[in-house]
Amino acid sequence: MFAVSLINWYKKNHRELPWRNTTDPYRIWVSEIILQQTRVNQGLPYFNRFIQRFKDLKSLANAKEEEVLKYWQGLGYYSRARNMHATAKFIYFNLEGSFPNNYTDLIKLKGIGDYTASAIASFSFNEKKAVVDGNVYRVLSRFFGVKEDINSKEGKEIIKDIAHQSIPDYEHSTYNQAIMEFGAMVCTPKSPKCNSCDLSEICFAKKHNLTTSLPLKIRKQKVKTRFFNFIIFHCKNEVLLAKRTQKDIWKHLYQFPLFETNEEIDDPLSRFDLKGELKGKHLKKHVLSHQLIMGTFWWINVNTLPTNNNYIKVDVDDLDNFPVPKIIENYIKENLAFHLE
Ligand code: SF4
Repeated sequence: MFAVSLINWYKKNHRELPWRNTTDPYRIWVSEIILQQTRVNQGLPYFNRFIQRFKDLKSLANAKEEEVLKYWQGLGYYSRARNMHATAKFIYFNLEGSFPNNYTDLIKLKGIGDYTASAIASFSFNEKKAVVDGNVYRVLSRFFGVKEDINSKEGKEIIKDIAHQSIPDYEHSTYNQAIMEFGAMVCTPKSPKCNSCDLSEICFAKKHNLTTSLPLKIRKQKVKTRFFNFIIFHCKNEVLLAKRTQKDIWKHLYQFPLFETNEEIDDPLSRFDLKGELKGKHLKKHVLSHQLIMGTFWWINVNTLPTNNNYIKVDVDDLDNFPVPKIIENYIKENLAFHLE
């Protein structure tokens, strides 16, 4: 009943999306990685641009990492783009370009976890595998009345068991698409559309008035606040950039020289012993899943740009060629011109 209702609902109501009209594992892979971190409306332009530039496994495998990151810029979770690039190279150069065609082989690949392996196996190769994303957690938790914390190991296992038991023997790929789409369109995180829902008469959460409290999610990890001071050393239309190489957020992206502090500061010149003329500052906040970045952009005019092995000189007009974190992209778009007038 549950699966039949969902499949019927899906056939009448689903959105037309480019990754739904194909069984190409490469396109499905790209779409699933993008959709792990963003909603369909925001992810769609990224998907289209990415596929236009890297139209198949070969073009992604042969691209430079910097260009891949540039196309990923703004999506966040850059390790996913780096892993995808590494895996494209592995499949193209080590597996003769042949995409593994089952869950067991897919999950061995770098950056492909249970969710993505299940999605590719199901949508490309019609393997009977339940795909469990955030939408599925929510729908199953509400419909079956799972009261365990879905961020806990036990909660995840209960949902996965239900997901595996619920998948039908027929049209399992359509069922997977259906439950995810239903979660995105009807059984939404806030204000689920219970009044028009085909499952409302047999839904546990609806019957027990628990739609706002399920699924239960207890956040264990605290959000850490970090204070980033980006210094824009400017001389004759040139600034400095540095590549982030440490094991941290935004690995392999570029940034203005960064000085991290434990609190907000007033004067970068004395604090970091810098030479130059301080011409202004801009504050920007950036929220990540477990970190809050308080960014201060300090503009300093200098007679000669400081030298350091990590720094590269970049003409201001060429900044757009470098992959940068969203907070820096926003600063460049919104504030850079102010200092160059
Ligand atoms: S009745 Fe409401 S809570 Fe239950 S499945 Fe439908 S939309 Fe979700």
